[in-house]
Amino acid sequence: MSKKTDLTTKLLAKIQPEHPLPEPLSEANLLEQGLYAILLRKLTPAQAKDTVVRLRNAYKDWNELRICQAQEINGHLDLGSKGMAAAADIREYLQEVFQRSHGMELEFLRDDVQGSQRFVSILPFIGMGTAHYLLWLASKGELPVTPALMRVLDRVGLVSRTASPKKARAAIEPIVPNGKELEFAVRFGEVASRWCDARKPLCHQCVLVDDCKHGKKAFRDWKIAQERLEQQRAREAARLAILQKKEDEKRKKEEEKRKKREALEADKRAKEASRLAKIAERKKAEDAAKAAKLKAVADAKAKAEAERVRKQKELEQKKLAALAESKRLEEQRRKEAERKKLEAKKAAEKKAAEAKKAAEKKALEAKKKAEAAKKKAKKK
Ligand code: SF4
Repeated sequence: MSKKTDLTTKLLAKIQPEHPLPEPLSEANLLEQGLYAILLRKLTPAQAKDTVVRLRNAYKDWNELRICQAQEINGHLDLGSKGMAAAADIREYLQEVFQRSHGMELEFLRDDVQGSQRFVSILPFIGMGTAHYLLWLASKGELPVTPALMRVLDRVGLVSRTASPKKARAAIEPIVPNGKELEFAVRFGEVASRWCDARKPLCHQCVLVDDCKHGKKAFRDWKIAQERLEQQRAREAARLAILQKKEDEKRKKEEEKRKKREALEADKRAKEASRLAKIAERKKAEDAAKAAKLKAVADAKAKAEAERVRKQKELEQKKLAALAESKRLEEQRRKEAERKKLEAKKAAEKKAAEAKKAAEKKALEAKKKAEAAKKKAKKK
């Protein structure tokens, strides 16, 4: 038994409570004592006490407070920046009490054993440390024996689990150091809430693991499982590394292929551009030559046309000149004919005049002859 007491003392020394043990409030019911314990998680004892008094005065009953918004609760407090966090804890505490007990008081912990066992079976927010504290208050300093406490003590090897609360108390009480019932209940209660879950105890995190019968094995199993996991992780990491390497190589090859392809395409584009440029240049030259040719043809045509026009003009001028010449010659001929006609007329007139003159002379001579003959004849 002394061995177990030594072990108990050793284990208790290892458990550091997350929150200080409250001094019981004077003239407060169990619900208020629980509220005070919860408030001590974030407030000083003076602030926590003042908060309980303020809320007690501000609300008709605790159920009215339970359904209030945190902002409204904070309005009744004088906690500055801590106000909202404290208000949220107050609501959560009252809500958990209500859900677990279907009421808004905890006085049943004093005499309802079955109701108490039911209430403390699941208290995620209040926690088993605070629950044991409340049970300790309710029983006026008697050691609280709960399934959670039994579970932890059984696992660490201090007592064997039993369904009989009487036998359990008989087994536990002898190992509790004198005058340390509350500390014992609260600290092992914290172990139950923080690590020693009924289904999945977190032995690898638990402060008692080195001295816990169940925990040592569980921790060994956990370490083996972790090593396996680590090996698996290492294998997986190696597999992933190989895959990554392959992937990297594949990407590298693809990248090289892409670059090569791009270089080829760029080269092809450059060649095509060069070819097109040459074609364009050739076409330009051809177009220029064609244009020059067309221009030459057009110039030649224009020149020929101009020549034709010039020749035509020249021809027309010649024709006009010929016509004029013809007219002039015609006029000349006409004038010549007129002149000849006039000359012929004049010659005819002259000839006629001369013939007339000759006829007159001849007639004159014939007359003269006749007169001479007549004279002659008369003379005879
Ligand atoms: S080591 Fe494991 S079994 Fe032991 S008390 Fe801690 S959580 Fe519970």
